[in-house]
Amino acid sequence: MRLIERGSGPPRIAIVGGIHGDEPAGERIVDQLAEDVTVASGTLQLVVANEPALDAGRRYIDTDLNRTFPGDIESEKYETALAPRLITVLEGADAVLALHTTHSAPPPFAIYTTLTDTVRKGITGMPVDHAVDAGNLRGTTLDSKLPNTISLETGRQGSDEAVEFGLEATRDFLRVHGILDDREPTFTEKMVVTVDEEVPKGEGKPEVFYQNFEEIPAGEVFARDDVYTHRVTTEGRVPVLASEHGYDDIFGLYGRITGTIEPPA
Ligand SMILES: [Zn+2]
Repeated sequence: MRLIERGSGPPRIAIVGGIHGDEPAGERIVDQLAEDVTVASGTLQLVVANEPALDAGRRYIDTDLNRTFPGDIESEKYETALAPRLITVLEGADAVLALHTTHSAPPPFAIYTTLTDTVRKGITGMPVDHAVDAGNLRGTTLDSKLPNTISLETGRQGSDEAVEFGLEATRDFLRVHGILDDREPTFTEKMVVTVDEEVPKGEGKPEVFYQNFEEIPAGEVFARDDVYTHRVTTEGRVPVLASEHGYDDIFGLYGRITGTIEPPA
């Protein structure tokens, strides 16, 4: 783990890249910010989480870090022991933004577990259209274990666009929290997609037929392989993190549009 701090005093705002070692965008964004951010007020924590996995170009060394929180400092698995170390660094931060990229198609989007006022400000202050409420899923992610934490999917894994968009969105997030004061933050309403179910993947050639946030008509097949044919039976389902090769064990998540998040008053 690598930690760079800029500024001093409250609020303390953290940007975390490199939770997954096969997603280089987060580290590039963190390094760029370390180079060019002038903190107006407060403390900026810049963290690169899983350096051995980044060096290896692999998602993880022993186990997926974002499925292992809160972890166990005694564990022999690298990420299971890393998780509590990362929590210790971030604990008490006023707001945390964790950067990710995906194999699924754009657009970028935010993910949250609990909609606090801080999370509302952060999400409505960033240039995404969709916010994914993951509060119904298993609580092993960083945003489910640390309060006031947002995960941001900045774009396609390995693309320059993911770095460019991530930098733009992260700077907006820092403006929301007063770390940057080069211009006023702007806030816009977001569409909320609540995810409630993982879509399992089996064996054989995986095929996915609908993209993120694209409504799947009832009766249509979302995804299939030699083991599964996932035919949707109810109206209003939309896929999130949909991909054929992004994950070993799931095609993505099923969600539904459940409302909006309004900007802070
Ligand atoms: Zn990731």
